[in-house]
Amino acid sequence: MGSVESQASAGSKPVSAGAEDPNAQSQEANRPMTDGFHLVIDALKLNGIDTIFGLPGIPITDFARKAQAEGIRVISFRHEQNAGNAAAIAGFMTQKPGICLTVSAPGFLNGLTALTNATTNCFPMILISGSSEREIVDLQQGDYEEMDQLAIAKPLCKAAFRVLHAGDIGVGIARAIRAAVSGRPGGVYLDLPAKLFAQSMDAEAGRNSLIQVVDPAPQQIPGAQAVKRAVDLLKGAKKPLIVLGKGAAYAQADAEIRALVDKTGIPYLPMSMAKGLLPDTHELCASAARSYVLPEADVVMLVGARLNWLLSHGKGKTWGGKESKAWGGQKFIQIDISPQEADSNVRIDAPVVGDIGSCVSALLDALDADASWAKAPAGWTAAIAERKSKNIAKMAETLAKHPAPMNFHSALNVVRDIVKANPEAILVNEGANTLDFTRSIVDMYKPRKRLDVGTWGIMGIGMGFSVAAAVVSGLPVIAIEGDSAFGFSGMEVETICRYNLPVCVVVFNNNGVYGGTDVNRGGGADVAPTVFVKGARYDKLMEAFGGVGVHATTPAELRKAMEEAMRSNKPTLINAVIDETAGTESGRITSLNPSAKKK
Ligand code: ADP
Repeated sequence: MGSVESQASAGSKPVSAGAEDPNAQSQEANRPMTDGFHLVIDALKLNGIDTIFGLPGIPITDFARKAQAEGIRVISFRHEQNAGNAAAIAGFMTQKPGICLTVSAPGFLNGLTALTNATTNCFPMILISGSSEREIVDLQQGDYEEMDQLAIAKPLCKAAFRVLHAGDIGVGIARAIRAAVSGRPGGVYLDLPAKLFAQSMDAEAGRNSLIQVVDPAPQQIPGAQAVKRAVDLLKGAKKPLIVLGKGAAYAQADAEIRALVDKTGIPYLPMSMAKGLLPDTHELCASAARSYVLPEADVVMLVGARLNWLLSHGKGKTWGGKESKAWGGQKFIQIDISPQEADSNVRIDAPVVGDIGSCVSALLDALDADASWAKAPAGWTAAIAERKSKNIAKMAETLAKHPAPMNFHSALNVVRDIVKANPEAILVNEGANTLDFTRSIVDMYKPRKRLDVGTWGIMGIGMGFSVAAAVVSGLPVIAIEGDSAFGFSGMEVETICRYNLPVCVVVFNNNGVYGGTDVNRGGGADVAPTVFVKGARYDKLMEAFGGVGVHATTPAELRKAMEEAMRSNKPTLINAVIDETAGTESGRITSLNPSAKKK
């Protein structure tokens, strides 16, 4: 085997090789040529990709420059993980794969966490990393940032490809796009060795080698029998419940989902990132009666939601099971694009496999055609409404309190009002208690407006998601951040200022992970591992880069600062001082934390 370049030459006919006639040689030399840089850019543009999130460095610096010169928006970050998270959430918001561009080895590894998280969450994303030459990597000869990136990426994403020849760039990018967005979406790794970028080939042949992907995420129509099975179960239900997951939000089948709820009158429970698919204030929204509806329901229809840990695996006491892993007696219908998802935790009685738009439309058609269909029993919806109003009244009492210093509730009461007044704004949310309380207190009104820690409950998505949300939508972003969570991506406030993005970050500052009160049990000088610098001024970080910083110690100060941020659209960071004794260790997932359980 020859070198990468000589292999490429065999396919794409080099400019001068073997040309003996001097005229022919000069004609050849004058032929318009293209190179790997431009072919990658052209392939992305041909497929409607207009934004790249990344971090330049060897060997992709020039690629980033040239992409910008060719009209692609290149958003440059301070750490690859944040660029990767930005790409992932851009994929979720747009249904087009979000592109993250990194350098080799360490940059690639930094991006890999985001790629894997994207795959776990079913977000379409392509991580493009520059890499060392195969010859050196395979012989382990010690190249600059040498690493077998393709092998490392493979088990951690949906698909991984490497392109060695300029003439294959079109195929490589087409395959990456299809893999990312078709079926269950996910993360794809595309390995581009440094030498590929400089390879040249005839411009026309290059153009012809590019592929505009036709129908990248084909509709998947469910089988008629599967739909009938689901309708029969729904018809027999006395206490039906719909659970909407972020797959339903991703599918952008908003009208169909609304029609399903309206037509059936079945109460629904939105998972965190499905909040707002229908307004949280909708009369059939059962969020405020969650712990009542899960064990009580007899038929549960999952729409783009997995029965994973976030739903207690569909069994146990949450679902009315007698003990921790016991079945609660519910029958399940599951609408999902992945045929393998059903039965992953409990028996799925009626799997409906297809894309959510097609499946829900098919269900609606079947219900329309069925004269015996009646809406969800009124006794069931009335019982839920009663529970809801009790819980909402109790919450209103808590929210109305004005403790000093602020606690999560009094601060979130402000955030709740600001989001209500600005329903177009996108809410990014991460932390432990900050996450849990925000999710349950702040109502969402429109689809895909709540972006959070997702399936893994990961920390560190905050600023990457915020940047992408603002860039992709042009809308204001409110990021509600625990002080610990913010630390993972806090340096990106410089990115927010650099691109002058309408992002208002609110750091719920309670001096540590979970809180700031823990002590060093060995009695030494070091603070406890969960404690940060007390009274830290995160607002100064935003000021350092020319944004607006506000130190807020009361709900009134927080309200004023948030209103001003919404009015001005300027990069803003509000350091919201929260009682360091408020909150619990591990928030609402204390049950998963062995040390917190013992206490
Ligand atoms: P949540 O965390 O909100 O419960 P999950 O991420 O667990 O949501 O589940 C999302 C589900 O949605 C996945 O099983 C995925 O296969 C499915 N999904 C994603 N996109 C679509 C789509 N367009 N049509 C149908 N199902 C989809």
